This record gives sequence, structure tokens and C-alpha cells, in this order.
Amino acid sequence: LEVIESVEPRIAAATRAELTDQRASLKLIASENYASPAVLLTMGSWFSDKYAEGTVGHRFYAGCQNVDTVEALAAEHARELFGAEYAYAQPHSGIDANLVAFWSILAHRVEAPELAEHGVKNVNDLSEDHWEVLRKKFGEQRMLGMSLDAGGHLTHGFRPNISGKMFHQRSYGTDPETQLLDYDEVARVAREFKPLVLIAGYSAYPRRVNFAKMAEIAAEVGATFMVDMAHFAGLVAGKVFTGDEDPVPHADLVTTTTHKSLRGPRGGLVLSKEAYAADVDRGCPMVLGGPLAHVMAAKAVALAEARTAEFRAYAQRVADNAQTLAEGLQRRGVKLVTGGTDNHLVLLDVSGFGLTGRQGESALLDAGIVTNRNAVPNDPNGAWYTSGVRIGTPALTTRGFGAAEFDTVAELIVNVLKQTTPTTTASGAPGKAKYTLAPGVAEATKAAAAEL
Ligand code: PLP
Repeated sequence: LEVIESVEPRIAAATRAELTDQRASLKLIASENYASPAVLLTMGSWFSDKYAEGTVGHRFYAGCQNVDTVEALAAEHARELFGAEYAYAQPHSGIDANLVAFWSILAHRVEAPELAEHGVKNVNDLSEDHWEVLRKKFGEQRMLGMSLDAGGHLTHGFRPNISGKMFHQRSYGTDPETQLLDYDEVARVAREFKPLVLIAGYSAYPRRVNFAKMAEIAAEVGATFMVDMAHFAGLVAGKVFTGDEDPVPHADLVTTTTHKSLRGPRGGLVLSKEAYAADVDRGCPMVLGGPLAHVMAAKAVALAEARTAEFRAYAQRVADNAQTLAEGLQRRGVKLVTGGTDNHLVLLDVSGFGLTGRQGESALLDAGIVTNRNAVPNDPNGAWYTSGVRIGTPALTTRGFGAAEFDTVAELIVNVLKQTTPTTTASGAPGKAKYTLAPGVAEATKAAAAEL
């Protein structure tokens, strides 16, 4: 930091402040973690200075022999860790990984048959008329994914997102009573809609998914089955999710981030069956900018860490701690979406405290508990104010928290929410953003957290 300080002291100060904040607060954002020093140090290397568009052994720049080593190792670790036929380590983030997957599905399922029909290898060799036909076919394709308010991700066909514009989209939700995924309903919508792509995976669904069942549905309607395991990749790597709950054997393509429960650098990965490999491999430069070799090196280090027995024990603790946290919250009267959890995250419905998710998130932050607000199914407060607060256990489990600490965390959360009052608007109705936290609660909560 002294070196940075001599160039731009404000960046050095912000970096120090970030370290202090991350150490002092209770980091409960379900998608965050603490990467190891080995991962962090690997990211700050000379690889950042190298251009390497293309793929291993096939680059558009000279001098990429060391980038090749790094990218090949990251892919090898990913293949072996997840038992995948093919792995692609370049995506810069989870959204980029999804874009690469979408592009490779379109290339494999729509473009390749069209080229074969006209006896050419490249779209540039198509006549103008045939190219127009192909463009029209791209525009006709359909995607079915989990709805945003049931816990899906915005790249799974949410209309405002590019995925909702690339594809005709429809979504499946959860059962209105149980809030659980209803496979019969997914099958019904799939039969009616006949998507090219069926996506499973979530950002805010606190339950396991039976990927074997989802794969059967996809096969029945002729869809490519894609799973976005960005959130729970650490639980797959750590063998907490096995058999029908492991997406890799069942899906044609699996995408993930590397920085959430997997505890690596910020980035993404695509795993695929061999049939999609050649198209996935063209992700850069067809979809992605030049690879971040320093981050791919850090992915290789993180994936090597994830292959250890220590990481497996960590992943199991992440799931165990989520159970403890959920039980601790329910025992103290909190309503949880789906009535509990069996993965790494818990979704609180804070409407019982008379609060919006936004008020809950802000009051908790004042008390040093970092979470994020999240819509609950059919949320009356919409996606901005919401009625939910999402919390996850990966980061604090990395800090060594176990059952006793997580029960205290549940107590601190409930205490803060109970002592938060929404501020009324001019008309006397409760507001959606403003609130008052009773005096002394923030300080007392921070002091208790510091003891953990
Ligand atoms: N997919 C899912 C299911 C996610 O939860 C997220 C992140 O929130 C992403 C993709 C996007 O990841 P990134 O922010 O790395 O692009």
C-alpha cells in the first residue's frame, strides 16, 4: 500500500478502509466471501500486462506461452474438480459466462445446422439471403428460466436484461403455498412453450434443486439444459450436492462465478459437454474481450484449493451453518421464504416486523451487519424496496464461525429488526425507505459482533 500511496493516496486510503470495514462488519451477503492470500496475491501479477485473445495454443498475439500454461491449468483443475467433459476459464464474470453459454447454444443448435444445410463452414460464406434467414432464426429462439421473484437471476430471461431481448422468454415460479420449485409446473410450461434453452439455477432460492428431474424435462421438449451454479458452486465442488443435486452430469452446459461460495477471484467459468466445447472455446473474441490472465491464474489457485479435503469440510460447514442460522431465526419468530434452507442462503421475510427489505437492510448495516434486500415471491413492495433480506453463510464460515457464533448472529439480526421502526410519510402511512433504529442498538450490536 505504501507504493500506491506515493501515486494516489486516496486509493490507498480507500483500500485500507475497505479492509477495516470487511474485518469489522458481519459479512452476510450470500454472494460474497474472503479469498485466500494465495488467490489475492496471484491476481496482482505481471500477467495483467499481457494480451492473449484466442484460446490455448491458438492466440491472435505472440508470446502467450505462459498464459497458455495458466489457462490450461485453470481448465484442468475445473474439469477434474467438477468431473466436467470440458471447461473454459476465460469469462470475466458470471454474466459473461452466461453470455458465452447462450452464444454457444445458438452456434451449436441454430447456426451449425444452417451452415451444414448450405454446405459452408463459416457464416461469411452464406449468401445474403441465407444469412437473413439465419438471423431470423436467431430471433425466434426461446428461453425458459426461473422468475426473478422466485429467486432466479436477471440473465435467465428477465425482460429488461439482454437475455430477455435475445430470446423469447418465459419463466417458471414456485408453488404459491410452499414457495418450493414445482417440477410438474416446470414440465407443463416447458411442454407448452418448447424452449431451445431451459435454465436452472438461482440467486435467492434457499433450497436444493433436483437437476436430474430438470434434465428429464429438457430432454422431453428437446431443450438444451443449462445450469447457472454461480451461487452454489462451492457446495458442488465440496461434494455437499451430489447425485441428482450435482448439475454437472445432468446439464449440457454449467456456468458459474468463481468468487462466491467457490471462494476464488472475481470471475466466471463455463463447463460443458464435449458437443458444445468447440463453440464455448470461441467465447473470446466472439463474446468476450481479451482474457484476464492474472485472474485465470488466480482461478487455477482457487480451484486447486477447492480440490482439498479442507475445502470439502468448509463446504459442509457452510450448509450446516445455514441450517443453524435458519433455525435460530425461526425460533425467534422470523418468517423464512420456503420455511427454511438446505443450501448456503436464507431469505427472511421482514414484513412481519412492519419493515420493507430496504429498511431492514439499512438498519442492519447501521449495526454493522451487511446483507442485501431481495424480493420474495409475489413481493408487494417490488424489486426495489422488497419485503425480503437475503443472507448467506459462506463468508463468515471462512472466518471460522460455527454453530454458536451463527446462533448469536441470528439473535443480533432479530434484535436489530425488532428495534427498527418505519418512519411514516406525510399522509401518516409507513414509508418504504426511512426508519429509526432505537438508540444504542447499533453500538451494542457492533460490540457483540466484535466478540465473535
Ligand atoms: N448468475 C447468478 C445465479 C448470480 O447470482 C450472479 C450474481 O449475482 C451472476 C450470475 C452474475 O455474476 P457476476 O456478477 O460475476 O457477473
